[in-house]
Amino acid sequence: GFGWGLIGASTIAREYMADAIRRTGGRLLSVMSHDGARAATFARDLDIPGSCSDLDVLLTDPQIAAVYISSTNTQHRRQVLAAAAAGKHVLCDKPLATRSADALRMVRACDKAGVVLAVNHHLRSSPVHQTMQRMIAAGEIGVVRSLMIVHAGYLRPVLQSWRIKDAAEGGIYLDLSVHDIDLASFLLEQTPVAAVALGAGVALGSNTVHDHAMYALKMSGGAFVQVHESFVTPDVESQVVALGSEGALIAAGTLAQRSTGTLTRRVNGHNESIPLRANDLYADTVNQFLGAIAGTGSPRATGRDGLAALAGAEAVAKAAATGKAVAVRHYE
Ligand code: NDP
Repeated sequence: GFGWGLIGASTIAREYMADAIRRTGGRLLSVMSHDGARAATFARDLDIPGSCSDLDVLLTDPQIAAVYISSTNTQHRRQVLAAAAAGKHVLCDKPLATRSADALRMVRACDKAGVVLAVNHHLRSSPVHQTMQRMIAAGEIGVVRSLMIVHAGYLRPVLQSWRIKDAAEGGIYLDLSVHDIDLASFLLEQTPVAAVALGAGVALGSNTVHDHAMYALKMSGGAFVQVHESFVTPDVESQVVALGSEGALIAAGTLAQRSTGTLTRRVNGHNESIPLRANDLYADTVNQFLGAIAGTGSPRATGRDGLAALAGAEAVAKAAATGKAVAVRHYE
């Protein structure tokens, strides 16, 4: 089996990614936390042989070929750069960094080191979104000029920590907007070029850490994307709706950690439901990453995809803070 190290004793690693790595044939060899006792507890609970509090200890283990990084967002930059320098392939959770200029450095460092960098934008792995992307690319609903996304829910109490404390690390833009902008870019095969936005901290957040937002993006191919995101609206079923010149595609309940939801095609006033088989979104993401390492494919979301999503989210955050339209920074 392929040897992995976990950087970050996080909720997502515990609940999903440790299992996804094992399901795809990986061997979890070590976990790192800032707190050695925390790492040891995590290792014991998940039956991982090694644990440490020193990143260098994990990165000098020759058995570890790849790392999964799921620490808090401000740590991603330093940890990705260190992993690349140690020659480890990197699957980093989103946001790739907290500033797009940092993400660019990380992408370049991984290129230079010859390691694969993938970002855990797992929504690309949904069979509903995969099917939507293929149908849009094949012109099955004509020219798509609008995409609407409703990604609203209630932030689980266990996650009400750094996500709602500090705008440099948390807030809805770094947490949800990167996912939704990446999904829009994937579905439309266009990148965001400009944003207008409204945002606020209405309940869990504050004036600077927004928990509720609505924004619109203009995409590189001319499509418009409208997004509503919230941490404070329970019981909302997510929606991703692509409006084409010859019909529409409607995904309901797909913006989740598990492979859920339905896909409907609407043509000439008639709704047709498209049957799809569920998968494991995270295991699929890991499998694609392994394929990229083996040289047989590309990650679902590359480092450059993560960079583009972050640049989009940055523009949205700035647009919400200033009330002005903001151009998205473009990186070659
Ligand atoms: P957590 O808050 O659970 O964990 C993040 C870090 O916070 C941990 O690595 C840990 O640091 C520290 N930490 C957590 N709980 C405690 C505690 N009780 N005491 C002390 N330290 C603690 O974060 P998430 O799992 O929610 O998110 C981690 C990353 O994954 C983020 O970048 C997030 O954006 C991303 N994410 C992605 C998802 C996806 O679907 N792609 C879904 C959820 C999150 P240490 O490791 O040093 O101990």
